[in-house]
Amino acid sequence: MNADPNCIFCKIVAGQIPAKKVHEDDHILAFHDIQPWSPVHILVIPKTHIVSMAEVGDEHAELLGRMMAVTPRLMRELGVTNGFRHVINTGRDGMQEVMHLHLHVMGGPRPWNKG
Ligand code: 5GP
Ligand code: ZN
Repeated sequence: MNADPNCIFCKIVAGQIPAKKVHEDDHILAFHDIQPWSPVHILVIPKTHIVSMAEVGDEHAELLGRMMAVTPRLMRELGVTNGFRHVINTGRDGMQEVMHLHLHVMGGPRPWNKG
């Protein structure tokens, strides 16, 4: 398991910084975003330090699959019933701020959605 001592998400994995966790297993961790963009906004990360999608290759296919596959159950458990959105930002021009790969998953009621 790679870890970068200066990486905020590696510190969350190591338990050095608190996070509101919603899922943890040997490979991945999911927790609430500290500044949510939607009523429910979680981040799913690999426990090992991968900087971004730009570093991902075939060898990460299973890990990426796990990150995606866990999200429908988590959204159901968090009460999201009307759809959700996945976003991955990559690199500076891709709006990535935290340089440890993470999958945003956002759901919950939108005020402009009627019915
Ligand atoms: P990015 O722009 O890199 O795709 O998104 C980084 C996300 O990480 C942002 O939505 C931000 O609110 C979230 N974030 C940054 N620092 C922390 C933290 O210490 N704890 C948690 N839970 N989320 C964080
Ligand atoms: Zn990291």
